[in-house]
Amino acid sequence: MSQSSTPKIALVGNPNSGKSSLFNHLTGLNQKIGNFPGVTVDKKTGFCQLNKTTRAEIIDLPGTYSIYPNSTDEKIVFDILGNRSNPLHPDMVVVIVDASNFKRNLLLFTQIRDLNIPVVLALNMMDIVEKTGLSIDAKKLAERLQVPVVPTRARKGTGIDKLKEVLAQVKPNGQVKPIFDARNHCGDAIDEVKRNFNIEEDYVAYQMLQQYSINDSISDRDKLVLGEIAIKYDFKKDDIRRKETLERYAAINHVIDAAVKENFAYLPKEWTKKLDGLFTHKIWGYAIFLFILFLIFQSIFAWATVPMDIIDLTFSELSVALKNVLPAGALTNLLTEGIIPGIGGIVIFIPQIAILFAFISVLEETGYMSRVVFLMDKIMRKFGLNGKSVVPLISGVACAIPAIMATRTIENWKERLITIFVTPFMSCSARLPVYTILIALIIPDEPVLGILNLQGLALMGMYLLGFLAAILSAAAMKLILKTKERSFLVMELPTYKVPRWKNVGMTMFEKSKTFVLEAGKIILAISVVLWVLASYGPGDEMEMAEQRITAQYDVSQLSDVEFGNKVDAYKLEHSYAGIFGKAIEPAIEPLGYDWKIGIAIITSFAAREVFVGTMATIYSIGGVEDEGTIKGRMRNEINPKTGEPRYTFAAGFSLLVFYAFAMQCMSTLAIVYRETKGWKWPILQFTYMTAVAYLSALLVFQVFK
Ligand code: GDP
Ligand code: MG
Repeated sequence: MSQSSTPKIALVGNPNSGKSSLFNHLTGLNQKIGNFPGVTVDKKTGFCQLNKTTRAEIIDLPGTYSIYPNSTDEKIVFDILGNRSNPLHPDMVVVIVDASNFKRNLLLFTQIRDLNIPVVLALNMMDIVEKTGLSIDAKKLAERLQVPVVPTRARKGTGIDKLKEVLAQVKPNGQVKPIFDARNHCGDAIDEVKRNFNIEEDYVAYQMLQQYSINDSISDRDKLVLGEIAIKYDFKKDDIRRKETLERYAAINHVIDAAVKENFAYLPKEWTKKLDGLFTHKIWGYAIFLFILFLIFQSIFAWATVPMDIIDLTFSELSVALKNVLPAGALTNLLTEGIIPGIGGIVIFIPQIAILFAFISVLEETGYMSRVVFLMDKIMRKFGLNGKSVVPLISGVACAIPAIMATRTIENWKERLITIFVTPFMSCSARLPVYTILIALIIPDEPVLGILNLQGLALMGMYLLGFLAAILSAAAMKLILKTKERSFLVMELPTYKVPRWKNVGMTMFEKSKTFVLEAGKIILAISVVLWVLASYGPGDEMEMAEQRITAQYDVSQLSDVEFGNKVDAYKLEHSYAGIFGKAIEPAIEPLGYDWKIGIAIITSFAAREVFVGTMATIYSIGGVEDEGTIKGRMRNEINPKTGEPRYTFAAGFSLLVFYAFAMQCMSTLAIVYRETKGWKWPILQFTYMTAVAYLSALLVFQVFK
């Protein structure tokens, strides 16, 4: 800038775009830290010698996603950039754009540019962009945006000299054509604001109208004036803002088309057209999607069995081995009966999760998933969901935790919340062992139509049941939840590509890691609590177990194993867990359950897969978790009141339905807490799902008994 005084340069950008790194490189040790007036937000200023003659004052503004003030930090940015009389108002702005998150970062840039302050765009994180197989053409970008563009790597300091050189030459703006011309939507109101407040820029006046009710740095008197203008010209705040976002993204997409190149294998354009005709076809589209889903589930169950068995075996052998090596005692028991099986219970789901996400990420990488989103959007919308809800719902079949995290792509708050709320109804892999054992117990192993199998059909029925519960609950929530925010699907269909296998691998790894860390913490903690509840009890019944069994049975007739089993079962009955089980018996009797099932329900409230292990202990199998034997014991179990088997069709079916619907997963609740930032939704979800489970199980038992 050819000014003789020291020009002020403000650094603006999304949080983590590299502002502070750039600031440090520009100013070196020549900086000082203070506060912005009136608020405790760090204000960093410093000086930078741009060239031999020009020295500039640099100010590092707080990170912001948009000009609209959603936080104190963002308010500061608007107050400084929008108000010419603010002592910190800059002569020019450097917008730092995280190029690896190009689209979202450019949104802020387009807003800043419309404030009509001279702007330079620093295209940061170019090293990351290059790694992902993209390239951004800075020259084309500069042409399209009509501002100087400098590629930088702020962490290393690359591009800083060039940036200084460009900054030294920046001239004051003439009138540039705005990217979003607010004048097209509310020109008269803007003119009146400009007259009243002595503002020069259209976009600043427009922002005053947008913000006056929420921005407390606007005085009460000014607020009144702005309010009157808004009413006089019927300024529809949300409507216009929606149009603004659309116009900005349209402009950004144009820029991206011109300046961003993807360096990977494309299908030719004609192919894309033909494939789209097929994949989004009114009938074939759905048929193909269903077929792909079918293939995915077949593969998950076919491929995951072997690694899952290996993991299972490894952990149980580890337990046995440690038990033999370590001195006997409570600590050893906690480790071998609580902690190690607890960790094993988490790790065992990794193969299914990894395989599922491999498929999902291939579908996303190739571009097919966008077609599914497009295809399903209309249907999902009827149920209060969104085309993008398809991915979380499918992922929910492996595990609700990564599935709920995948809802972050849904922009509309209500639709995202509904998706989060209903996803745990999808039958996750933790329900599978419970389904397997109960179905084997109550459904005969008979062929149907020659190729299918009755038990297999029943299993499929359980998955369908979960899906129906999800969809219907969503529809109910759509009616209950009120929101003004309307959503629209804005997306372009990308061209088909060959997937980048590195990304597929990364997704598999990331999702599995998140699952292990997030679910792991909670499952582990709960395993320990459960172990304590099942290993200790009031009074001295626990210590007396051996003697009680000796008194009750003819010990000479029992093998060592049988004796041990009887002791374990006796201990569990008299443990705290057993006492809880008995306490809830009156509540679950109408569902067809007894206190033993009560224990299993209580223990599996932490995580469903605990059910089978608890059953194994209750029916005194001891250490060997052989499914066949548990099944045998469960089949022989007699209901003392009726003299009939405990697991009648009605009781077994009722239990199946209970497990299909109940929210028995602490980890999911923890994730919902994190994603919705509060306890309201997880508590509602827990209450609702438990109520649905209880009532359906009650209905099933009373109808079929
Ligand atoms: P701010 O929040 O905008 O102030 O961003 P920071 O300057 O604190 O940077 C956020 C993170 O991005 C830090 O870990 C930086 O080291 C890193 N970072 C900054 N610039 C680059 C870059 O050009 N390439 C890479 N790979 N990382 C960068
Ligand atoms: Mg910073």
